[in-house]
Amino acid sequence: MNVLLTGGCGYIGSHVAVVLMSAGHEVVIVDNLTNSRRDVVDKIAEIGGRPPSFYQGDVGDVEFIRDVIRRHRIDSVIHLAGFKSVGESVQLPLKYYQNNVCGALGLLQAMEAESVSNLVFSSSATIYGNPQYLPVDEAHPQHVINAYGRSKLHIEEMLRDVCISRPSLGAICLRYFNPVGAHHSGLIGDHPRGIPNNLMPYVVQVASGEREFLNVFGGDYPTPDGTGVRDYIHVMDLAEGHVAALNHLSLSTGWHAFNLGTGKGYSVLEMIRAFEGGSGRAVPYKITARREGDVACAYADIQAATLGLNWKAKRTLEDMCSSAWFFQNHLSTRRQGSGR
Ligand code: NAD
Ligand code: UDP
Repeated sequence: MNVLLTGGCGYIGSHVAVVLMSAGHEVVIVDNLTNSRRDVVDKIAEIGGRPPSFYQGDVGDVEFIRDVIRRHRIDSVIHLAGFKSVGESVQLPLKYYQNNVCGALGLLQAMEAESVSNLVFSSSATIYGNPQYLPVDEAHPQHVINAYGRSKLHIEEMLRDVCISRPSLGAICLRYFNPVGAHHSGLIGDHPRGIPNNLMPYVVQVASGEREFLNVFGGDYPTPDGTGVRDYIHVMDLAEGHVAALNHLSLSTGWHAFNLGTGKGYSVLEMIRAFEGGSGRAVPYKITARREGDVACAYADIQAATLGLNWKAKRTLEDMCSSAWFFQNHLSTRRQGSGR
């Protein structure tokens, strides 16, 4: 299949690219590099044994996307391009609606104009808000509490409408829980610009000495050790979920949503301990105030993806921690090599 992968230079997108390539698909990446680096394309090529096609550009640029679709005879689109910082979205909601919602709108217009009828979209567990019950299944009420989450929900709803109007369209919304870890080569991984917002890249930078200690946001949650509990999933398992979704679309049309998680929750302190065990490094931390907007505990009901996509996460927490650490070491070695 010829797959257009938007946001393919980013953390998740780069892993989706290598998994797609190893499954025999032709991958065409569109990324404007606002939160990634051009050399990721070379790393994907190194892992995949051949280069993916790459275009630097904006996913909301309808004529540009139409041209890419025609040129590569695209059959399916995996749409990951977007902004993802919850905190920033609260400060700058219009930036999020512009990039995420208008970007998806432009992409959908281009797909419609070129009669492309398969789409996999990266949604988020954040659309569920504070869980009313656990594990969280796909029918859980949606209570978004920030502009980032609302941008995801708007796109999901837009896709529902488009699927009703175009019965030949198949759209799968994958609601990611907490992707962590990296490809085993150490060539690609989570490499955010600036101070990491997410737990794992922050932990990794503390372990490597780049940062002094980790702030653990809240020690008084109603969880076994008082710290927040999340469903961490290895990014390679998550990436494989996209191939499973494409396979599903080859047999079905209409709108679908699936949680991608492991179904297990780990607390921040459990993550720290697992990471220390896997890396052999200490991760000093201080328990600080809760972060605004955080929920105490969230983990996925994975039945729908297990049955509907015939997919299940198989990597362990140890794999997640050791691969994240291996990637960080590669990064440090490359930086030293380039004198940075
Ligand atoms: P990322 O920032 O590493 O990757 C996103 C990529 O999209 C970047 O390479 C960026 O340059 C590109 N991009 C952004 N806006 C664009 C635009 N308008 N046109 C073209 N390219 C654009 O983020 P990620 O962690 O890989 O996340 C990928 C997707 O998954 C995002 O949509 C995010 O909201 C979603 N998601 C991520 C998580 C997570 O924890 N990482 C959880 C749930 C959902
Ligand atoms: N967290 C933390 N310190 C950090 C970053 C995150 O204690 O520097 C906690 C956060 O409060 C949550 C968990 O780690 O309980 C996962 O947060 P992350 O931002 O990675 O993902 P989220 O679930 O918020 O999308």
